[in-house]
Amino acid sequence: MLLKDRVAIVTGGAGINGLGFATARMLAAHGAQVVILDLAAANPAAAAAELGPQHLGVVADVTRRDECESAAEAALARYGRIDILFNNAGITQAKKTLDITDADYDAVLDVSLRGTLLMSQAVLPAMQRQGGGSIVNTSSVSAQRGGGILGGPHYSAAKAGVLGLTKAMAREFGPDGIRVNAITPGLIATDIIKGKLTEERKVEIAREIPLARLGRAADIGGAVVFLASELSAYCTGITLDVNGGMLI
Ligand code: NAD
Repeated sequence: MLLKDRVAIVTGGAGINGLGFATARMLAAHGAQVVILDLAAANPAAAAAELGPQHLGVVADVTRRDECESAAEAALARYGRIDILFNNAGITQAKKTLDITDADYDAVLDVSLRGTLLMSQAVLPAMQRQGGGSIVNTSSVSAQRGGGILGGPHYSAAKAGVLGLTKAMAREFGPDGIRVNAITPGLIATDIIKGKLTEERKVEIAREIPLARLGRAADIGGAVVFLASELSAYCTGITLDVNGGMLI
């Protein structure tokens, strides 16, 4: 078992069709105890129960420092350690530059960028005490292409910010044995794109992708298991593209 006795927190992990839950399921299948963190409305306790009684659901908003700290404390109270943090929570808005309001900017950057920083701050002291850990941050192909199919410029900026944060934290915490890496998903069929693309548009997009299909949630899970485990022991500060070859 790759992740036996490892404890993993997955933010935004309660959506049954989302990348977080699919990844939580794969982390659990590889032996990890998983803490599913999400907003109350997403019902993280039910999602954790779906994985089994040894897993934990925690309600927290990643944009709130106190709630991130309480979530980390709940994980430590239950399992005594935190080995893996998958910063997955994120929201998108398909807006053009001139339409982005202050509230739009705050909402999108707060969840992806502030949330990634706050949750990392909440778990890093425990990882330092343990002498190691792995943080996997979620960026997006939108950061690399300068605009996405579904994300506006503020989304691209938030996800590009995640790459900078990843590299800076990787440099800072490498000496503590803590690795920090990022994934850049391409277009993955989850609730985030539900109702936003017609079937024809999906076929059109798939035609442009060398692997000739949209991504599946499990494609992300595999990449996160790799970065979370010792298989990637000498990788830190990297950006792992999971996009079917979209950028070739
Ligand atoms: P999703 O909408 O299905 O899931 C997002 C989850 O985050 C939900 O469970 C939601 O409740 C949770 N969440 C939102 N705000 C939160 C907050 N403040 N605190 C805690 N949880 C919060 O989306 P998804 O497609 O599974 O995307 C997951 C991540 O992957 C996001 O960061 C997204 O930007 C990124 N991503 C997705 C794609 C894609 O094509 N699906 C592509 C690139 C990047």
